[in-house]
Amino acid sequence: MDTISRRRLLEGAVVGASGLAALTAAADEASAAPVASPGKPSGKDAEWANFRFPLGQQKAKLYEGGSAQEATVAEFPISEGIAGVSMRLKPGGLRELHWHTNAAEWAYIISGHCRTTVFDPDGGSEVLDFGPGDIWYFPRGYGHSLLGVGPDECQFILSFDNGAFSEFATFSISDWIGHTPPEVLAKSFNVPASTFNSFPKREVYIAQGAVPGPLPADPAAASEHVSPLTHRYHLMAQRPTLSFPGGTFRLASVKEFPISTTMAGATLLLDPGAMRELHWHPNANEWQYYVKGRARMTVFGSTGRASVVEFGPGDVGYVPRGFGHSIENIGNEACQAILTFDDGNYQEISISDWVAATPRQILATNFGVPESTFANFSDRDLFIAGGGK
Ligand code: MN
Ligand code: MN
Repeated sequence: MDTISRRRLLEGAVVGASGLAALTAAADEASAAPVASPGKPSGKDAEWANFRFPLGQQKAKLYEGGSAQEATVAEFPISEGIAGVSMRLKPGGLRELHWHTNAAEWAYIISGHCRTTVFDPDGGSEVLDFGPGDIWYFPRGYGHSLLGVGPDECQFILSFDNGAFSEFATFSISDWIGHTPPEVLAKSFNVPASTFNSFPKREVYIAQGAVPGPLPADPAAASEHVSPLTHRYHLMAQRPTLSFPGGTFRLASVKEFPISTTMAGATLLLDPGAMRELHWHPNANEWQYYVKGRARMTVFGSTGRASVVEFGPGDVGYVPRGFGHSIENIGNEACQAILTFDDGNYQEISISDWVAATPRQILATNFGVPESTFANFSDRDLFIAGGGK
């Protein structure tokens, strides 16, 4: 893919009518959002920040129907803008009806199948099944639940656009009902108070129930009021947004996935030796989950601060907004990373593209070297470099 068509893709020259509405909503959301502070500071020589968190090695919160591990700013201090969770649901395991007050939810299915319900403020609802490579997005505050549908355990990665979000402090329906006087429940539901005698008194979080049957072929049959924008996107079923000899990049920004106004997500696949070149994101923090393979990330945080970090399966990485970074496959097998960003619009500037667009005389003066030094530099964006056979 040449530079021009790449730019066209990333800048989203094609925006449908529904996409425009979503883009406007994204802009409103962004201007209202608090400004995240830049990464952890100080100490030019010392360990100035930790960019890796071994999520897969954390103690899981265990239930009969499933489990969850989380990475919030409390465990992983650099990750002020985005939190994450690795969750597993057994067939029939139900992450109960709940909502969040302080973050939207983005998810990627690694293995197995699950079913979500989501209910929005306009009374729209959607019941959808998800398989490997699918993603969902639930706007902040929308009611939702997650159910393992089998036949195998379902593992998925959740990402939230607020580092302070905790999966273990959500607003769960059992917790609410269990802490509300029965006479209030009776009036609210218009049923006898005794109805609630056998309801749980504390948060259920994950319940184990029967394995559900298939959904009706027509999803609209599940609800009279289907949401105007779907919460599901088959990310890995799409042709790569960008394809190179050394790897691929699949993007789900608000342009591809209109409901996802506050977050963009992507998967990066790198062959051995291939590298996502030095770049930065002007508008968003980047959260990473490494699914498979081994990677080396470099991070540059100004004033001489720089780090080299290595990742393996189950690790989480984080790059504060504007920090320079690269990701290289240093293993012998394919490396896959799931990337999320706390802005629905995807923006990036790659160093090869920037240098190619700068007059050579300026580069020569900048570095104090002859202009001929740049004769063999790429005249366009590399994006993913190396790794080609
Ligand atoms: Mn949730
Ligand atoms: Mn990046």
